[in-house]
Amino acid sequence: MSQYPHLLSPITSGNVTLNNRAVMGSMHTGLEDRLWHRKKWGAYFARRVEGGVGLIITGGINPNRRAWFYPFSSTMTNVIDVLSHRIVTRAVHEKGGKICMQLLHAGRYSYHPLSQSASSIKSPINPFKPRAMSTRQVKRTIKDFVNAAKLAQKAGYDGVEIMGSEGYLINQFTSPRTNKRTDEYGGSNENRMRFPLEIIEQVRKACGDDFIIIYRLSMLELVGEGSPQDDILELAKASERAGVDLINTGIGWHESRIPTIVTSVPRAAFADVTKKVKDVVTVPVIASNRINTPEVAEDILSQGKADLVSMARPMLADPDFVLKAKEGRRDELNVCIACNQACLDHTFQMKRTTCLVNPQACYETELVYVKTAKAKKIAVIGAGPAGLSCATVAAERGHDVTLFDASDRIGGQFNMAARVPGKEEFWETIKYYDSMLKKYSVTLRLNERVSADDLIGAGFDVVVVATGVTPRTPGILGVDHPKVLSYIDVLRGHAEVGQSVAVIGAGGIGFDVSEFLVQRYETRFEPMQIGEITTPEPLDEWKTEWGVDFDTLEAGGMVASDVKAPARKVYLMQRKDSRVGKNLGKTSGWVHVAMMRKKDVQMVNCCQYDKIDDDGLHITRDGKSQILDVDNVIICAGQVSERSLFDALTDSAKDSALDVHLIGGAELAAELDAKRAIRQGAELASTL
Ligand code: FAD
Ligand code: NAP
Ligand code: SF4
Repeated sequence: MSQYPHLLSPITSGNVTLNNRAVMGSMHTGLEDRLWHRKKWGAYFARRVEGGVGLIITGGINPNRRAWFYPFSSTMTNVIDVLSHRIVTRAVHEKGGKICMQLLHAGRYSYHPLSQSASSIKSPINPFKPRAMSTRQVKRTIKDFVNAAKLAQKAGYDGVEIMGSEGYLINQFTSPRTNKRTDEYGGSNENRMRFPLEIIEQVRKACGDDFIIIYRLSMLELVGEGSPQDDILELAKASERAGVDLINTGIGWHESRIPTIVTSVPRAAFADVTKKVKDVVTVPVIASNRINTPEVAEDILSQGKADLVSMARPMLADPDFVLKAKEGRRDELNVCIACNQACLDHTFQMKRTTCLVNPQACYETELVYVKTAKAKKIAVIGAGPAGLSCATVAAERGHDVTLFDASDRIGGQFNMAARVPGKEEFWETIKYYDSMLKKYSVTLRLNERVSADDLIGAGFDVVVVATGVTPRTPGILGVDHPKVLSYIDVLRGHAEVGQSVAVIGAGGIGFDVSEFLVQRYETRFEPMQIGEITTPEPLDEWKTEWGVDFDTLEAGGMVASDVKAPARKVYLMQRKDSRVGKNLGKTSGWVHVAMMRKKDVQMVNCCQYDKIDDDGLHITRDGKSQILDVDNVIICAGQVSERSLFDALTDSAKDSALDVHLIGGAELAAELDAKRAIRQGAELASTL
C-alpha cells in the first residue's frame, strides 16, 4: 500500500485521464523563447515524464506580439512555431507523458511600449503604461488566443492552460482594480468575465472535446480593489459551463506586497482557498503554491481540498518527485526550498532558469553525470554545500569518495541558514545530501580537521578542497569588546543576546540574523522529520501578520494586519548609501525588508563605525556622531575564503601526481551563495 494513495491515483476529466494527481505547473525557464533551445526544453520536460509526472504545463507562450512579456518572447502564431514546438511535444509523448501549452497575454505586465490592458492604468512594477484595448482589439485578441490554441493542437499539445491569474491580461479584465471599461467587457462582473469566457468557449469549439482546457483562475488577488470572493466563485462556475476540463489555482498578483511562494510562506498555505472553488464546481480543481513534498500533496488531496496538485519548482528541484513517492524513496527527494534564487530570480534577470539544489535542471543535455570508466580515489574536504555536491555526484559516477569535515555534522553554513525563522526548509537539503552519501557509499569522516600532511601519501588520486569561508572581522576600534558577537555565536545558540542589538552588515546574513533576533516563534534546531507537513510558523499567525483572510468578502482577500511585537530592538546597518536590502534577491528581498519594517527594525545606511565600548556602538552619519546604546553588536560583515589547506596542499604536493581542486567559498568568498557552491561542486565532479 502506497503512502500517498490519493496523489498516485489516476483521474479522469472529460475525455482526459491522467496517471496521477501531480501536475508540473507552468514556469518560465528562458528556454521557451529561442528556437535553438527547443531540444533542451524538450529534454527538460521528458526528464520529468520519466520521473512520473501526470501532466506538464509549459511556461507562458504569447498568443500575439502585443502579448509579449518582453520583446521577442515566445509566441504561437505561425507554422514555424508549430514545427518547432513539435520537438517538445514529441520528446514528451515518446516517454508517454501529457503536455499542455500555457497561453499567456502579459497585458500591462508587458515590458515594452506597445503593451495593452483592459484600461490604461500603469502597473506599479512596470515603467510602461498600457493602452486601453478597443472593443475591436478585445475581439481580435480572443481570436488570437483561439488561433494559438489551434496551432498548439497542431503542434501536438494535449491541451492548453489559459492564464487568467497573477495579474496578467485576462486577470486585468476580470478584476475591478484594472478594468474601468464601459463597453460589454467592463462594469458588472458578468461583463468583466466575458473576455475569458469567450476565449474558453471558442477554444473548445475550435479544438474539440478531446483537447484539454485548463483555466488558471485568480482565486485570491491580494491587491487593493481586487476581485471579491463572490465574483471569483461566479467565474469558476461560469468557466465550467463554458467548457473547461480543469481549474487551476492562481494566488496573488505579481505586484502584490504579500508573499505567496517564498520559503517563509507556510507549506500549502492556500489550499483552503482552492477548496472554496472546489465546493462550487464539479470539474477537478488543482491546488498550488508551496506544495513541495508528497506528504503535503497527499494531505491536501486526502482532505478533499483539491483534486490535483500543481508543483512547478519542486519538479525543477527533483524530476523524480512522483517516482520517488511511488517507490517509497521519500528520503531521497531533493526538496524545493522555495529560495527562488536560481529559478524566479533568474527569470527576472533574463537568465536561464535552473535550481539551487539541482544544477542539472534546464541543463539536462549539458550537465550530464556519466558513469566513469576509471574509478578514482577522491578526497573531498568540507561537507558544506560545495563539498556535498561534489562528493555525491563523483560517487554517483562510480568514484571511491571520502568526505571529511571538521565539525560533527554535514551541511556547513546551511546548518545556520536553516535556523533562521522562515528558512527551515533548508534542513531538507542537508537531509537529502545525507541520503545521497549513504546511497552512493561515500565514506564520511566527521570531526576530522584535515591538514595537508593527512592527505599527501594517503593514496588519493584527487583532492577537492571545499573548506568554505570564515567570517570577516572588520577593523573597528573595540571589535574585541565582550558585547561583540559573530553571527555564528548567535545562530548556533551559543550566546545570550540582549534586548537591544546593532547588526553590522546588511547583506543576506545580516537580514537573516535580524530576523532570528526579532523572531516570532521557536527556532527549529533540528530538521523536520519526513512526514511532518507543516512549517513551524502556524498558518493563522502568518495570515494575521500579513493581513490575509480567506473568508473575507473584502476586495482582494486583504484585511488589516496585526504584527506581534519584536523580541528585541534591532538596528541593521551598512556603510553604503544605497537602500538597505537593495542587493537581496529580486523576488524574495522585498519580503525580508517588509518583515523588518513590520518588526520595527531600524535599517540604517551611510554609517561610519567609529568604535564599540561599554556605552554601545559609536557611529557617524551625515557628519553627526551618535551612540547607539545597545547590549550587543553582531558582526555580519561578509566572509573571507578559508584556503589555508589548499595553499599548504598545493605547496607540499607540487611535485606529486595529486590532482588538487578548490571550490565553493574556499575558492571565492565574494558573492558566494549555495547556488554557486552546489553548481561548482557538481560541475567539477562531472569532469573527474
Ligand atoms: P561552507 O558551507 O562554509 O562549508 C565548509 C565546510 O568545510 C564546513 O563544514 C567546515 O567545517 C569544513 N572545513 C573547513 N576547513 C576544514 C578542514 N581543514 N578539514 C575538514 N573540514 C573543514 N546561501 C544561499 O544561497 N541562500 C541562502 O539563503 C543562504 N542563507 C544563509 C544564511 C546564513 C545564516 C548563512 C551563514 C549562510 C547562508 N547562505 C545562503 C550561504 C551558504 O550557506 C554558503 O554560500 C554555502 O554554505 C557555502 O558552501 P561551501 O561548501 O563553500 O562552504
Ligand atoms: P554580503 O552579502 O556580502 O554582505 C556583507 C555586508 O557586510 C554588507 O552589508 C557590507 O555592507 C558589510 N561589510 C562588508 N565589509 C565590511 C567591513 N569591512 N566593515 C563593515 N561592514 C562590512 O555577505 P553576507 O551577508 O555575509 O552573506 C554571504 C553570502 O551568503 C552572500 O553572498 C549571500 O549570497 C548568501 N546569503 C544569501 C541569502 C539569501 O537570502 N539569498 C541569505 C543569507 C546569505 P557595507 O560595505 O555597505 O557596509
Ligand atoms: Fe526551488 Fe530554489 Fe530550486 Fe527554485 S532554485 S526550484 S525555489 S530550490
